[in-house]
Amino acid sequence: MIKNNVERLLKEVPQYVTIVAISKTHGIEKITEAYEAGIVNFGENKVQELCPKQEQIKLPIKWHMVGHLQTNKVKYIAQFIHLIQSLDSLKLAKEINKFAQKNNRIIDCLLQVHIAKEETKYGLTEKELYELIENPEFHSLKNIKIKGLMGIATFTDDTNQIEKEFKYLRSLFEKLKDNFSDFTELSMGMSDDYKIAIACGSTMIRIGTLIFGKRII
Ligand SMILES: *Cc1c(COP(=O)(O)O)cnc(C)c1O
Repeated sequence: MIKNNVERLLKEVPQYVTIVAISKTHGIEKITEAYEAGIVNFGENKVQELCPKQEQIKLPIKWHMVGHLQTNKVKYIAQFIHLIQSLDSLKLAKEINKFAQKNNRIIDCLLQVHIAKEETKYGLTEKELYELIENPEFHSLKNIKIKGLMGIATFTDDTNQIEKEFKYLRSLFEKLKDNFSDFTELSMGMSDDYKIAIACGSTMIRIGTLIFGKRII
């Protein structure tokens, strides 16, 4: 089933769009199956779930952190993480920079922007985004690289609303591009809204349910 799901997605999604399989709650066997079907990028939303999986799965997977990241947990993922998609504060940026330095590497990050109507979703407001980008201290962090933006749309059937939010994120992306040397990624779109996201300019979709099936729990 996973194999078919992956193959269908790979056929349907344009080549320039990276598919990140969100494997939270799913075990090693399922992850291996998705890998063998052609997925290289996997994402988790909790450090305590990501680390054991990273240790146990002996495949050259590119791991993404897509959930809220507490500063005191950065040290556990700094050595191996491929992309932190949920950077949303200066404090966190400094911590990632510090542990990137300790591990002698540069860690790629996306700035997470709050685009949904729900209050509970994490991410920077537009104002906070500009404040961060205009902060010289932020720009002095040499061991993180800001590759683009990430956003989660409102959980709704209203496709017009979702489209509006993705277009808004795209417009921020266009405005900010020139502030960074390698600003290429726009991570938006999940199982229910990835088609809208791609139409709005997404370069990276985060797909859980459509690959692995419904999450139990
Ligand atoms: C769980 C999750 C996804 C994937 O959700 P699906 O609807 O199952 O595709 C994408 N992004 C983030 C940040 C998530 O936490």
